[in-house]
Amino acid sequence: MIALPPALTPTEVKRNEPLAPWTSVRVGGSAEALIRPATPDALVGTLRFARETNTSLTLLGGGANTLVGDLGVPGFTLKLASDYFPEQVDPSTGLITLNAGSAIARIVTVMKQHALVGAEFLAGIPGTLGGATAMNAGTKQGEAMTVIDAVELATPDGLGWVTGLSYRYRHTELPAGAVVTRVRFRLRKGDVVESAAKMEADLSYRKRTQPLSQPNFGSVFTNPPGHFAGALIEQVKLKGHRLGQAQISTLHANWIVNLGGATAQDVTSLMALAQERVREATGVELVPEVKRVGRFLP
Ligand SMILES: Cc1cc2nc3c(=O)[nH]c(=O)nc-3n(C[C@H](O)[C@H](O)[C@H](O)COP(=O)(O)OP(=O)(O)OC[C@H]3O[C@@H](n4cnc5c(N)ncnc54)[C@H](O)[C@@H]3O)c2cc1C
Repeated sequence: MIALPPALTPTEVKRNEPLAPWTSVRVGGSAEALIRPATPDALVGTLRFARETNTSLTLLGGGANTLVGDLGVPGFTLKLASDYFPEQVDPSTGLITLNAGSAIARIVTVMKQHALVGAEFLAGIPGTLGGATAMNAGTKQGEAMTVIDAVELATPDGLGWVTGLSYRYRHTELPAGAVVTRVRFRLRKGDVVESAAKMEADLSYRKRTQPLSQPNFGSVFTNPPGHFAGALIEQVKLKGHRLGQAQISTLHANWIVNLGGATAQDVTSLMALAQERVREATGVELVPEVKRVGRFLP
């Protein structure tokens, strides 16, 4: 049986915890140990214990961009609390510091409360602020790292703030094994009516174009330069294609939905099929946006 950090309380650890309910697509096996450290000290202690015992670590935010393998996740799966630190808001400078374990929606709420603008493009994106930082989440209107001023990272050696992380489309270069614990945004005063209208328009566009009533993990593939992944998959006639209980959405071909009881194998087979057909027809390589964690069937 896997050794657990001795300082953790029983409420902070669950052995053999099914992970499907912790992800938006509701697919996959169990965590050997799901650890939810209640304090930043418990988090750092867990990272240190994992380093000392050479235990593998998997970090889960809101699971909105994660596909868990059917054979589960060995080692520790870590999930942060959303209340490690008090939130800080300085409306005069537009600096807002929030917990990485908080929902992305929190920045939108705080922005509205303090009549700040600048992070409208994050409205409607599910997941946590830690996940949004790691993924540099965003839309055509903007991406998270352009409004993030600094992040606090936990490592086995403690906590510390960093600035100037490099990033690209849907990826931020975090130091290996570092866990984002707090995110500091830099927003600004501006036209709040225009800001609210932009967010409402975005949300209604999402409702019209995305299969939000079915479990999914958002875009399956990143958009290749000069192309839209959904258009390429539609072009090879895979829109609506089904394997097992997973289906390429009939609403948006770059989304896969779980029709109920889908396995990770159903999903990965569908992804492989889309990649193969698009490669054959167009020569374009589709690169998955979703993060695969744990062990998958061969
Ligand atoms: C309906 C729907 C719509 C979506 N629309 C969009 C969209 O418009 N734009 C977009 O960019 N994405 C979109 N996504 C994908 C997803 O919402 C984003 O990628 C989001 O940022 C994931 O956050 P999460 O906390 O759920 O991350 P998870 O899926 O839990 O994790 C994703 C990655 O981030 C890492 N991570 C998570 N927390 C931390 C942390 N604290 N420190 C370090 N690394 C961490 C994980 O280890 C993993 O590698 C959508 C998803 C869904 C289901």
